[in-house]
This record gives sequence, structure tokens and C-alpha cells, in this order.
Amino acid sequence: MALLGAHVSAAGGVAKAFERGATIGCDALQLFVKNANAWRAKPLDPAAAEAFAAVRAVTAGHSVPPPLPVIAHASYLINLASPLAETAERSRDALVDELQRCDALGLDGLVVHPGAHVGTGEDAGLDAIARALDEVFERHPKGPTRLLLENTAGQGTVLGADLAHHRRLLRSVAAPERLGVCLDTCHAFAAGADLRSADGYEAFVEAADQAVGLARVLAWHLNDSRHGLGSRKDRHANIGHGELGAEAFERLIHDARFEHAPMILETPLGDDDLGHARDLVTLRSGGAARGVEHA
Ligand SMILES: [Zn+2]
Ligand SMILES: [Zn+2]
Repeated sequence: MALLGAHVSAAGGVAKAFERGATIGCDALQLFVKNANAWRAKPLDPAAAEAFAAVRAVTAGHSVPPPLPVIAHASYLINLASPLAETAERSRDALVDELQRCDALGLDGLVVHPGAHVGTGEDAGLDAIARALDEVFERHPKGPTRLLLENTAGQGTVLGADLAHHRRLLRSVAAPERLGVCLDTCHAFAAGADLRSADGYEAFVEAADQAVGLARVLAWHLNDSRHGLGSRKDRHANIGHGELGAEAFERLIHDARFEHAPMILETPLGDDDLGHARDLVTLRSGGAARGVEHA
């Protein structure tokens, strides 16, 4: 069984994330290392980093001992492909800052969306991203945290719906060893990969292997999709309650090729805030794959 987890709030201090994760039965966590909707934040308090390490060292998961794998998701404002000099610069600054925070916390990965070309076209956009990544890695030369480029739904001018984009980025940056890939099920489905069938799933995994190599797939996002195959819309649904359906997840979480990749829920929490807890139960019970609905 995979390392199943969820995106958890870091409100009240990053160390609090472990308590929240433990309460719902996480074996892996994702968090924001700063407000995801703001460019700037006050520096990470060294005491908070120490508390984070101390709590991480003793907090077991649902079925794994400490320390749990923890990744972060970068701010949604970052657009490394922006043709606007000011936005591009702010994006690079923000990503350097986030990488530094992640390294200070000893996180395993930082997930970032490749970017949106906003009209300049795919080639120009991908070149801009590669140059931005080179600059970010130069400005923050060391550190254990890998930058994980996510696949996207391909809405608007967003790049990264096609894994060929990831392949090209890996080939055009100076330090590809600092990059990995995070695959999101909802985004893949919205971008046209039919993960509902065994054949469609296998075709997607093969395409990922061809494009980036499965060793570089260091995390998954487990999200069902509100919209249909190829919709190019990025709207997450709870597991088994979307167009993707639960069987796809049953297949993925038992795929030994991804045993070591944290699989993170970014599904709706619902009015009672228990959406992730219910989704973890659904995934672990395998009930949804047999068509059993949780009420
Ligand atoms: Zn995602
Ligand atoms: Zn999404």
C-alpha cells in the first residue's frame, strides 16, 4: 500500500501539521510553507523549524513509523513563464524563498506548477521556465529539497498538461538532478489521460516513464475530477465522487512502482472539514472500487 496522506493546514505553526495529519491517519503530508496567496512572508522562525523537526521525529503515521515524508506546495502566484518582467522576477524570488524554507524544514519536495505562457506560446514559455529554474538553483545552490514539477490540467495557457513539457524542461536545465515530477490524477484526466481503465492507466504510466522516467515521479496528488475526460478544467472532487471514479485510485495506490512516492489528497474538505479523512478511509477500505458508496 502506498504512503497515503493529505494536504494539511500549517496554521498555528508548521509543526501543527503533524497533529492534523495524525488525527486523520496520514502516512505522508503536504503543506504550505507560507501563505500560498501572498508574495511575501516574514522569515521562517528557526524555533519553528526546530519544533517541526522535533515533532516529525516522533510522530508516526497510520501505518508507518516516523519520520513521515513531507512535501510542500508552492504559492499559486508563482509563474516562471510570465512574459512580464516584474511577475517573472517576483516568481523567481518567491521560489528561491520557498526552497530555502523547505530546506530549513528538511522537506522532501516542493511542488510547483511549471507556469503559464500568457500568449507568448509554448516554446517561449518553456524556455522562460528553464532559464528561471537555472537562476533559482544558482541562487540557492544546495539543499535536500527537490523541486517537483506538477502536471497540469492545461487550462488556458498553462503549460505542463503534456509530459513532453516536463521532459523538455529536464533536458534544458543545468541541474536536472534537482528536479522531480509530481503527478496529479485530476489534472492528468482533465488533460486527456483516461485513468478510469487499466489500459488507460498503464498508457499514462508508460508515457510518464518515457517522458521523465518513473524514478523521477517522487509524489502523486490523489484527486478525483469534477469535470470529464479531457475537459482541461482543474476542479477536484472527493475520491469516488467525481468523473474519474474510485477504481483508478485502487489501481494506483497498489502499484508497487510508486510505493515510495507520497500520495497526497487535495480534495474538498466539505462543511465538516472531514473530506480528507473520509477519502483516506475510502482509499484504504478498497470499498469504493467495488462500487460501495460512503454515505
Ligand atoms: Zn495537485
Ligand atoms: Zn488541481
